Amino acid sequence: MPIASVNPATGETLKTFEALGPEGIEKRLAAAHEAFLEYRVTGFGERARLLKRAAGLLEEDQDDIARTMTSEMGKPITAARAEAAKCVKAMRWYAAHAERLLADEAVPDEEAADSGASRAFVRYRPLGVVLAVMPWNFPLWQVVRFAAPALMAGNTGLLKHASNVPQTALYLGDLFHRAGFPEGCFQTLLIGSAEVEGVLRDVRVAAATLTGSEPAGRSVASIAGDEVKKTVLELGGSDPYVVMPSADVDRAARVAVTARVQNNGQSCIAAKRFIVHEDVYDTFTERFTARMEGLTVGDPLEESTDIGPLASEQGRADLEALVEDALRLGAGALCGAGRPEACPRGWYYLPTVLTGITPRMRIHREETFGPVATVYRVADLDEAVRAANDSPFGLSSNVWTRDEGEVARFVRDLEAGGVFVNGMTASHPAMPFGGVKRSGYGRELSGHGIKEFCNTTTVWRGGAER
Ligand code: NAP
Repeated sequence: MPIASVNPATGETLKTFEALGPEGIEKRLAAAHEAFLEYRVTGFGERARLLKRAAGLLEEDQDDIARTMTSEMGKPITAARAEAAKCVKAMRWYAAHAERLLADEAVPDEEAADSGASRAFVRYRPLGVVLAVMPWNFPLWQVVRFAAPALMAGNTGLLKHASNVPQTALYLGDLFHRAGFPEGCFQTLLIGSAEVEGVLRDVRVAAATLTGSEPAGRSVASIAGDEVKKTVLELGGSDPYVVMPSADVDRAARVAVTARVQNNGQSCIAAKRFIVHEDVYDTFTERFTARMEGLTVGDPLEESTDIGPLASEQGRADLEALVEDALRLGAGALCGAGRPEACPRGWYYLPTVLTGITPRMRIHREETFGPVATVYRVADLDEAVRAANDSPFGLSSNVWTRDEGEVARFVRDLEAGGVFVNGMTASHPAMPFGGVKRSGYGRELSGHGIKEFCNTTTVWRGGAER
């Protein structure tokens, strides 16, 4: 894939970039490693000062970087600004909390003594250079949620961003540089995915994190496994959104629309499968469909736009193929299922609601990366849990009910990295984020995220020192 910004609203190529050659890659690898040797011994106060400066710069740049993201990958401009603001918040959160999250942990005296120690504790030390392979869908956020904790922990980062968001990728490298992080602490590598293996196998790279599709995750994890290097994988999702009879159905239908179409439907944690109890199925489906049909599809740079184009022509073709397969096998479309006539240029797709989904259809098992919802009717709680878990993915889940017994059952039984009750899944710096099953492993954000790329070190001091 060429490294280029192509405006998905028009198909126009905005800018192309030359990929780094072997010398450019080597220069950055060496810089990242050398930077780590010095940066690892800086204190939390100094790291926090730099990260807060980066947050301040990003806040100043918010409008410009939002326009860059929208022109590269098509998200509505309002959402792009919100994404930048969320990054600022996460940077400040880690600047404020990293020292506490990574404080030494004492082993209780009695247990230390039982091991023969006068005292023992755990120290979280940085791992080294971490390679971050990132996707285009939240081109700023996905990177910052890795970079902020990694830099606060004392690691250095190399970013291999998706090939269709090179301007956002270069902006990020520049941002950390302007903030004053020492040379080499955070660098953008403009490389294609074929070059990832060489970088990952380099002895100076300690670990990798990948957010993206399952094939990319499998490839990076198997190479890292071969090299015995730590990985975190944040992969696809097909989150269930369960609506039970005691729910506020009107609110559930309203929030369902945002949960499905945020970021033009291209979010890993978007609700994708709507599993509705038969007592409220008709009411929910009617209200949900009416709201989906009422969305404004159009130029993502317009403030009033709800849904812009999909990020790539291929992405739209993949989505169309999933919908066509479902319709051919008997699914019904309550709305959408086609391209908007009003937007002949660009890679737009109409908000779509499909019913009558069966296990034979690809859409039943595959991720829909676009504004397409599938609705399932279930008879009771057991069937709702079974339907929710009937997916290869396990990223997050949403449940709507006022019945505490049902809440307890969902929290106990849903196979997902999150259970959001009476609201939609969203990430927050203080809460761990990640999945199970084919959605990946490891966690980002919170204390769990920052410790993923730390060397959890046992410090044991002998009894003679007592
Ligand atoms: P993708 O094709 O997997 O690309 C993601 C990144 O991986 C890009 O930088 C890409 O580089 C690189 N890549 C692709 N194939 C690779 C390989 N074989 N080896 C090494 N690197 C490789 O995914 P995408 O289409 O950009 O993003 C959509 C997917 O990401 C969806 O499945 C979505 O659910 C998932 N996602 C997950 C999360 C989460 O937190 N769980 C968040 C956002 C998105 P090139 O661009 O150069 O190919």
